Amino acid sequence: MNQDLIDEIALVRNKLVARINEIEDKNSVLRSVEIRALYARIPELAQDQKAEFGKAVNDLRNELVDLVEASREEANKLPSIDVSAPFALNTEHHKRPTLLPAEWGSIHPLLAELEKILAIFISMGFSVVESREIDDDWHMFGSLNFPEGHPARDDYDTFMTEETDERSKPWIAPAHTSTMQNRILKTYIDKLGKGEPIAVVIPGRVFRNEDVDARHDHTFYQLEGVFVGRDVSVGNLIASLKTFLEEYYKTKIEVKSQPFYFPFTEPSLEFAISCPFCDKKGCHVCSYSGWIEIMGCGSIHPNVLRAADIDPEQYQGFAWGVGIERLVMMKYNIEDIRLFKSGRLDFLRQFSAAKGVL
Ligand SMILES: [Zn+2]
Repeated sequence: MNQDLIDEIALVRNKLVARINEIEDKNSVLRSVEIRALYARIPELAQDQKAEFGKAVNDLRNELVDLVEASREEANKLPSIDVSAPFALNTEHHKRPTLLPAEWGSIHPLLAELEKILAIFISMGFSVVESREIDDDWHMFGSLNFPEGHPARDDYDTFMTEETDERSKPWIAPAHTSTMQNRILKTYIDKLGKGEPIAVVIPGRVFRNEDVDARHDHTFYQLEGVFVGRDVSVGNLIASLKTFLEEYYKTKIEVKSQPFYFPFTEPSLEFAISCPFCDKKGCHVCSYSGWIEIMGCGSIHPNVLRAADIDPEQYQGFAWGVGIERLVMMKYNIEDIRLFKSGRLDFLRQFSAAKGVL
């Protein structure tokens, strides 16, 4: 066989070997135009070259069959997963077949609901600031009118580090989003001078040393609300929360409040709404009482305003903290808070907009 024919086969070989690694339908290489062209050349060749060239083409085809098979086995192997990699990096799913590409997923129900909740408050004139997942003693307690050694601190049994900050206090996994109040008031204090109120909602993850059951979790989401201005009363607080809740639940609801105790509000209230499921007739959601206690709230304590250099003689405010899971559980009649973090597709699929495989 002359050098031209040897080169011709080598050229086709290089081209097709490279293609096996590039394309998804690897079998198509075996039926490719290039291979068929080589076979078509055989009858044209001189008698003494036919046998040798034919064998070389057959050898090449056999080699390609083996390569296609090996390549397919390689593609079917479980890829090694880098758990720290952002999921969106794995979208070349034909190369990493067991990883779902990001676009096949859907937004988690809690985040989807949080977006709806925030949209309502934004329409009411509130800004949104996220809370922190590690904070200090001053923001968790001191700035919120919890004196040193006050027993109310024990009501917020959360997680602390052994490492301490510059005040020799441990770092704290916040037990509530109220840790942000002092920062918010200081950041937006200029608004008061301009005659505008401070109106901010703060979503964030909070942590409690809590036994987990259908109603309680050690880690959950809260939405804090802070409003400060002139002539602000408890009436404004109740009207704001009622407006939000009726918009979120898309139904008229009655509200009632009863005295409670928080160090950072005075008066402090426990806020209850008429059960949106039974119209106060009583059902299992409201424990047959017709009412559901939904959040704590109250007028911001003068000491909390003072801690942010706001004069409580001139300005007043209100604040609330509500569990986001609780709002969502009530909206969809979800009985177990643990479902949110369960990763159960049968649960998540009920919320997704039937996109992709999820
Ligand atoms: Zn009910």
